[in-house]
Amino acid sequence: MKLPVCDICRSLYVVCEVCSKKLQQRSLSRLDFAVARALTSLEEEEPAASKAEFSRAFPLGPKLLLVSDNPSTLEPLLPQLGRLLRRQLSVAFPKADAPSLAKALSPLKFTKTQSFLPDGTTRTKLLFRKAQLKQLRIDRQTLKAIGKALSLEVSAV
Ligand SMILES: [Zn+2]
Repeated sequence: MKLPVCDICRSLYVVCEVCSKKLQQRSLSRLDFAVARALTSLEEEEPAASKAEFSRAFPLGPKLLLVSDNPSTLEPLLPQLGRLLRRQLSVAFPKADAPSLAKALSPLKFTKTQSFLPDGTTRTKLLFRKAQLKQLRIDRQTLKAIGKALSLEVSAV
């Protein structure tokens, strides 16, 4: 299992010093712990859970967005995991293409913009509507953290 939370914190209902520092710095959230612990509890009945990889979890209105470098390790577990967490789940991977992001981020909508820089590289940015972010209760810091987890530039307009 590849998780943002350490083995002690995922198995025991404690928060160690290292993870608690990450919580304070907001590089980890309570939600990450909840997902890591739910995956751990699945391990016994579902051996595939031992290969699960997940890096961050974010609330997206009524559902949860899980970010994973290897979504295929999570996808077969989503129905059971969703039942444990009592939420609908979707998975996105860093630097995902627009169609798969649109599916993972739904109902949250975005526009993709591309600018061509003088050095010949392109810069991709996802623009989100402030009104919809507010409606889904996604604050600026959460949006920034989602962008960071997905290795994408994001902005609210
Ligand atoms: Zn820990």
